[in-house]
Amino acid sequence: MSVSENQGFNTRAVHAGQAFEPRTGAVVPPLHFSSTYAQDGIGNLRDGYEYGRGGNPTRDALQEQLAALERGTHAYSFSSGLAAEDSLIRALMRPGDHIVLGNDAYGGTYRLISRVLGEWGIGNTPVDMSDLDAVQAAAAANKTRFVWVETPSNPMMKITDIEALAQVAHDAGALLIVDNTFASPYLQTPLDLGADVVVHSTTKYIGGHSDVVGGAIVVKDAELAEKIGFVQFAVGAVSGPMDAFLTTRGLKTLGVRMDRHSDNAQAVAEWLLERPEVEAVLYPGLPSHPGHELAKKQMKKFGGMISVQFKGGEAAARKVAESTSVFTLAESLGGIESLMNYPSEMTHASVKGTELAVPVNLIRLSCGIEDVEDLIADLEQAFTHIQ
Ligand SMILES: *Cc1c(COP(=O)(O)O)cnc(C)c1O
Repeated sequence: MSVSENQGFNTRAVHAGQAFEPRTGAVVPPLHFSSTYAQDGIGNLRDGYEYGRGGNPTRDALQEQLAALERGTHAYSFSSGLAAEDSLIRALMRPGDHIVLGNDAYGGTYRLISRVLGEWGIGNTPVDMSDLDAVQAAAAANKTRFVWVETPSNPMMKITDIEALAQVAHDAGALLIVDNTFASPYLQTPLDLGADVVVHSTTKYIGGHSDVVGGAIVVKDAELAEKIGFVQFAVGAVSGPMDAFLTTRGLKTLGVRMDRHSDNAQAVAEWLLERPEVEAVLYPGLPSHPGHELAKKQMKKFGGMISVQFKGGEAAARKVAESTSVFTLAESLGGIESLMNYPSEMTHASVKGTELAVPVNLIRLSCGIEDVEDLIADLEQAFTHIQ
């Protein structure tokens, strides 16, 4: 079947880009590994396919699915989230241009922008994105081309008003880029709220099973799409066919997974809130969270990520991080299995000592889809290890 934009999220997730194969009727479209395509006479291509870096039907199917779910017109699939970000910046920025980004941006994003692209003349100013006056001032102070936000942010779980930020960015003559990795398109569609570009690490919720690394860019403007598509082809950081297939398969179940991730995280966050060892629970689903009302407005649910700060400081946080067994101590997030992370030394080690540094008494939980009683029991036993 072909998919219409009026259909529900889960219908689009299952069917967009997934029409059955016409010759055999195979319900799951075949996986295309071929790196090149036969031509019917010189330059006479079948359906535009010429060479695997430029086009591959399995990658195209994923791109169609991504565009349908993020409410964009064009999507591009990359070999990793950072490859997508690198291509996006090189497609749309030039030396002397500036990025205003969140002061708790994903560490790898900040490393790419500051340490790699900084050398090529791209400037940056980290600010608190939930403070729109600060964003406005930072954007006006430079030749700002991008305002770049993660909401919820990683790992401080701050919520930014996407609609209001789009206005601030556009008034400054900049584009609003939203890294939608934490929310996923099931919980929030930034292009509907005025954002110009959505980027993803599809490694996380979209892939959803911790078995494939990938990234994506989605836009709703043909001119931006053409520039990004050209760089994707010209620099070649494309996803391979097997990666694209695994990502498509994960994406089909995103809605049911996100419902379960969100319900589990809500219950875990409420349990954490009652614990005497805990100094703060950072989860937008809690009424005490400063971004709760805003999150209710722009998100469907509150997602599977929680950060927790301990009264016992670094020692308590490290002890809990190393004492769970259902939660696996590992980087990354968004898979069906629960993961435990100590950002200061793991995911965010690259921003240690900078203004993006993460508090040392903080752990980050990626709540999986296991039975929530088992997640809580695991945390309860880990807490007994705190002195
Ligand atoms: C993981 C992550 C990235 C980077 O993606 P990779 O697939 O690891 O390259 C970017 N942004 C956020 C929010 C992430 O969590």
